[in-house]
Amino acid sequence: MPVWVYALGLALVLAGVVCSFIIAEGGGAAAYLAGAGALVLVAAVPFFYIDVLKPIRKLRCEAGQFASACLDGGIWKGKQIDHVTKGLEDIRNELSESRFRIRELETTTNVFMAEKQQTEAVLKSLSVPVLVTDRFDDLIMANDVAGGLFGFDIESSRGKPISESLQFTELVKLIGETSERKVKVPKRVVELSYTGDDGVPIEVRVSLSSIIDPAGEILGVVTVVQDVTRDREVDRMKSEFVANVSHELKTPLTSIQAYVEMLVDGDAADEETRHSFYSIIETESSRMRSMIENLLNLSRLEAGVIQLNMEKVSLHKVIESVLEVMEPHAEKKEIKLEKDISPYLVPVMGDAGYLKRVFINLVSNAVKYTPEKGNVKVVARRDGETARVDIVDTGYGISEEDREKVFEKFYRVKGSSDKAKGTGLGLAMVKKIVEMHHGSIDVESEEEKGSKFQVALPGVS
Ligand code: ADP
Repeated sequence: MPVWVYALGLALVLAGVVCSFIIAEGGGAAAYLAGAGALVLVAAVPFFYIDVLKPIRKLRCEAGQFASACLDGGIWKGKQIDHVTKGLEDIRNELSESRFRIRELETTTNVFMAEKQQTEAVLKSLSVPVLVTDRFDDLIMANDVAGGLFGFDIESSRGKPISESLQFTELVKLIGETSERKVKVPKRVVELSYTGDDGVPIEVRVSLSSIIDPAGEILGVVTVVQDVTRDREVDRMKSEFVANVSHELKTPLTSIQAYVEMLVDGDAADEETRHSFYSIIETESSRMRSMIENLLNLSRLEAGVIQLNMEKVSLHKVIESVLEVMEPHAEKKEIKLEKDISPYLVPVMGDAGYLKRVFINLVSNAVKYTPEKGNVKVVARRDGETARVDIVDTGYGISEEDREKVFEKFYRVKGSSDKAKGTGLGLAMVKKIVEMHHGSIDVESEEEKGSKFQVALPGVS
């Protein structure tokens, strides 16, 4: 039933009521109008029931069913509900898929984090400085050695341009050049010189490798810095050693050759001259022999092929015999050679021959590197269970920088050649022998004042 029918009925009833008020008592027309309206309304009642009340009741009933179905945990059927259920199911599927993807991402992130930590741990364990930068030359990672060498704090420099932390402009430039390359480049190795805050120049070998993704794009640069100052110095020392050895061997050889030639040519007329020539030849050849022996001994000691003949040794006797050998050399330079050996000096377990070599070398050096009319003194005493022997001289002394190096093979202090002949092998051999006896050797020195070489050896009762 259309809405206008209900409206017409209602209007007729209202018009009847209004007219009945206007026409007072005799209003027949109004009564007709009201009657007609009432009839229309009565006729519309079934239709009103069908159109309005029934749907409302149905809705109320379905709502009730839905509520009870939900409460009972049952399934709510119906077309709309099917749609809603389908939609909900889709959402649920998407949600579980997203949850799965999130879990996958979490796992991948955890793996990445673990790998990153592992890489950082590996990097930190390396003793060479390493810097890792991204394609924009921002610092991603670096190890403590790198921070220490270049003087920057790793944590506060992370994620910032490397140029802000690294004062080594040449290296910053090289990193920039490497990250700018569009194609994969082989590892670049460059040697540079770097002067840090302490002003000490060091030689570095820098290896720069690009990190390249599968598409060929550069992701960053790994820079490994190697301090090669020591290598360069060893190279220099080796060349110096070869020059020294050949010079040292050539000098006595030339002299031997010259005296032999004179003898062959009959230039030594009398027996006395011939005798002096023989004695020079003997001295020079023994000098050569001792030099070659020193070289061979050191290499044997270093190779560990020498077996020490261990026995209870009196250092008193060893020192006495050394001084006896050295006395003529000291006399030549008018050097006063003294000894101060404590009667309480403990004996040591060692190889008497090798221990003699130790003290011959030390006293010989003291005499060699002390100007004429100086003093050399050997002081030996007991210190608990240790035997301590100091070789003290009033010689040229050794600078602090050189003191660290004199025990290295082939090392000779600059200018030593002007003072005395040598190969820079003596102290290296001394140190090796002392260590083989479980002892230690140290040096105290002041330039132009003198030096004190201190040997400590474990004593035996
Ligand atoms: P060398 O054959 O040159 O003497 P050593 O190994 O015995 O070799 O000594 C190494 C360097 O240490 C020497 O060249 C010298 O410069 C320095 N040196 C050693 N002993 C002394 C000393 N008593 N006084 C000053 N310099 C010394």
